[in-house]
Amino acid sequence: MIEETLAKAYDFKSTEQRLYIFWEENGYFKAQNDPRSPEFDPSRKPFVISIPPPNVTGELHTGHAMFVSMEDLMIRYHRMKGIPTLWVPGTDHAGIATQMLVEKMLAKQGIKRDDLGREAFLEHVWEWKTTYGGRITHQIRRLGASCDWEKERFTMDDGLSKAVREAFVRLFEKGLIYRGPRMINWSPSLRTAVSDLEVEYSEEPGFLYYFKYMLADLPGEYIPVATTRPETILGDTAVAVHPEDERYQKFIGKDVLVPVLGRRIPVIADEYVDRAFGTGALKITPAHDPNDYTIGQTHNLEMINILNKDASINENGAQYAGLDRFECRKKLWEDMRAVDLVIKEQPYTLNVPRSQRGGEIVEPMISTQWFVKIQPLADRALASVKEGRTKIVPERFTKVYFNWLENIRDWCISRQLWWGHRIPVWYCDDCNAVNVSREDPTECAKCHSHNIRQDEDVLDTWFSSGLWPFSTLGWPEQTPELKYFYPTSVMETGADILFFWVARMMMFGLEFTDVEPFHTIYLHGLILDEKGQKMSKTKGNVVDPLVVMDDFGTDALRFTLLVGSTPGNDTNLSLKKVEANRNFANKIWNACRFVISNLEKAPQSAQAKPEWTLADSWIWARLKTLLNDSERLFENYQYGEAGRQIYEFFWGDFADWYLEIAKTQLAAGGDRAYYTANTLVRVMDASLRLLHPFTPFVTEELWQALKKAAIKTGFKPFDQKSDWESALIVAKWPQGEKVEGWEEDKMAQFAAIQDVVRANRNLRAEKKIQPNVKTPGKIVNQESSAIFSQEKEIIAALGMFEINNLEILKDLAEAPEGWTSTVSAGSAIYIPVPESAEDKDRLSAELAVVTSHIKRLEGLLGSDFANKAPAAVVEKERAKLAEYKESFEKLKAQLG
Ligand SMILES: [Zn+2]
Repeated sequence: MIEETLAKAYDFKSTEQRLYIFWEENGYFKAQNDPRSPEFDPSRKPFVISIPPPNVTGELHTGHAMFVSMEDLMIRYHRMKGIPTLWVPGTDHAGIATQMLVEKMLAKQGIKRDDLGREAFLEHVWEWKTTYGGRITHQIRRLGASCDWEKERFTMDDGLSKAVREAFVRLFEKGLIYRGPRMINWSPSLRTAVSDLEVEYSEEPGFLYYFKYMLADLPGEYIPVATTRPETILGDTAVAVHPEDERYQKFIGKDVLVPVLGRRIPVIADEYVDRAFGTGALKITPAHDPNDYTIGQTHNLEMINILNKDASINENGAQYAGLDRFECRKKLWEDMRAVDLVIKEQPYTLNVPRSQRGGEIVEPMISTQWFVKIQPLADRALASVKEGRTKIVPERFTKVYFNWLENIRDWCISRQLWWGHRIPVWYCDDCNAVNVSREDPTECAKCHSHNIRQDEDVLDTWFSSGLWPFSTLGWPEQTPELKYFYPTSVMETGADILFFWVARMMMFGLEFTDVEPFHTIYLHGLILDEKGQKMSKTKGNVVDPLVVMDDFGTDALRFTLLVGSTPGNDTNLSLKKVEANRNFANKIWNACRFVISNLEKAPQSAQAKPEWTLADSWIWARLKTLLNDSERLFENYQYGEAGRQIYEFFWGDFADWYLEIAKTQLAAGGDRAYYTANTLVRVMDASLRLLHPFTPFVTEELWQALKKAAIKTGFKPFDQKSDWESALIVAKWPQGEKVEGWEEDKMAQFAAIQDVVRANRNLRAEKKIQPNVKTPGKIVNQESSAIFSQEKEIIAALGMFEINNLEILKDLAEAPEGWTSTVSAGSAIYIPVPESAEDKDRLSAELAVVTSHIKRLEGLLGSDFANKAPAAVVEKERAKLAEYKESFEKLKAQLG
């Protein structure tokens, strides 16, 4: 017996890993149409995704689970459509994150990074990478990711490092990379510059400090100024007022004295100053505030840096040198109070810039760094989207993309770290020449001195990930892979890294390959908890996808994430939903077992041409509609809605209705049974194909069993002209057929039957009829009575009517006595009122009451009362007795 090969229940634990190995070992993850093969056909257009490389330090979280599920869905769908499909996997070296992790690990052993030195420290990092670097990709495999693992890359591998070097040198040679002092965000404990994007602003309570800027040459006169960071007073180089501010006009051009330090600085006029804010006068610290920096440049002000790299005060802070910035704030303020320069402090909500990595307050600082001149790159990236060569899904993010690129500032690409791509610049100590080269130089190109040293900094991690779509395919070499698979197709990633990453890939792709790196950017939102809150360790609401997969299986997790998502919107992940989808996997399992177990029982050939039943036609019409709708939804990136409709079809139509009807049709034997089995196989096969991109494991497992059973019994797959493929992962995507015109009618007729059955189920539930009890029935419908008569057997079977006591009528003059009824969509349904135990109890109790009244009244009327009381009163009591007697008879009759 075939069904013995399928266990009673789906055991995902024993299935998932086995199938993953089966797919991988059979080479299904590799793109068909290998550009290095002699049979290569360059005219076939491939579908390509580069994976957003997870940090090599990463631990699988729901964000990874989301993008892996989504991309795997896209890849499996295109693969099944017969398109050569490639999904390039890999990991990112994640500069700061990895360096911090290894530093912490070494600190536990009492080893400091600085004691080790650069080379030895990097050896430790590589050692860590070798040991743990495969962890995240291993976890990604568990999600069923059908990546071509033979093409796996790492941002620091030789090829990609070469690409980074090439990109830097080309930009430098084009004059698009420069070095210079600029305002950057400085992370004092990481001791590195961090990009604008790596800074998060948090609202925190603080103070606005009001103080006096004393005029240098007008004793006793002062300009009131307010600041949130008093320590920056030490770096002030001007006080600015609005040119039309009557309060301060007279001071413009005069000097004021920096508190405590006594330095003379000018009062300048600038329209940037907001007269209504604070005191209307601004202190200007060009070296420690981005806005002041701009004013400083306009007015040619001196830039005084007051901070060391650890954010302690440097020698420019005179007596405060060596103090931490916050200590200095207190001390300076107290000193100012002592000499009567303090006006007041006022509580104030600050917008504090904090480092996304360490959480510490970052300081705006002037620092000498390497920058990419971004405008020319940004212009092209803007044009690509404006002119429609790359489109963003959902479209509303297009505006966000434009806005960001239109206001972009030069990109600071140097980081004061050791782990990363070291900047390929060598300084000559003899002639001060700057050597930038593709190969490590041994001497200065200008003066041939050997006295050269390489820049200590490394490049921002996003510099290498910006090259990802083409560096992973071999760029700058013109490899066959680069020529065939590039540009890629869809960049699918979180909306939160549109700027970090996607915009940079657009800019670099256009700069280095002269073409958009992908035609579509698909963005998904964040994964939130079931209440729609952000997951966080402190809240304790973090869902671990590995645990969820252990508990409910990978398919259940994938289906929940995929069906719950719409492009660009956040997704709430609830474990209840995952559990419900685990039940869905079981539903598919049970349905397929039923189909398989009936194949051998059914005749394996037909005697005549098919005579389709209404149910056959209906399920077929529904499947056609589903195929056409899901095709449209897939092409429009509406995967969630497609999944929902496939689910509805499978559970709501196929499993709940058709399978039930099939039991009756199979029991009929002969051609009826043969064609029913034929329909069961075809619909089951199509459903498994449709579900495969969502729930790859359970569908592959079942499909293999279905195929085996079908081949043995001679049944063909959904597409009757095809043979069964070697595996579902490479099986053909089911094509929707053209609507032929008969479908609407059949669906409407079947819907009328479903209405009657559902209405009767509700009525039975209301009357508390046991599920296994059949009843007589009358169904009255003017329009559908012919169809109902024809489908009487099905209606009786599904509606739990006694087939010989079911009447289908066009009209019914009067409701039968003692029957109850319900009306739904033009049908009236009658069934006899059931006698329940409860009803009997109630009737008996009523009978007892009536009997006691009768006894009492008979006693009363048989006594003297009848003679003595007024005639009218006696008559009234007699009438009462008659009424009670009548009720007695009725109750008796009802009780039987
Ligand atoms: Zn030189």
